[in-house]
Amino acid sequence: MPRAKAKCTTCGKPVVQAYRPFCSKRCADVDLSRWLGGSYAIPAVEPPDEWDMAAAIREQDTDPGKLH
Ligand SMILES: [Zn+2]
Repeated sequence: MPRAKAKCTTCGKPVVQAYRPFCSKRCADVDLSRWLGGSYAIPAVEPPDEWDMAAAIREQDTDPGKLH
C-alpha cells in the first residue's frame, strides 16, 4: 500500500505537498521557466474559436435591420 515517495522533478529531493510535484517554489519556478523558455515555446496568441463566435453573435444582435 505505501506509495513510493514522489521526488522533485527538478532536483530529486522529496516533494513538499504545497509545491507538488516539486520540493520548493524555487524548483517549481525553475521547471516553469524551463517550460516557457524551452522547447515548448508558445506562439503568438490567437483568439480562440469562442471569441470569434461571441463577436459574430454580437454583430447579429446589433444588426440595424432587427431593431425595427
Ligand atoms: Zn527540488
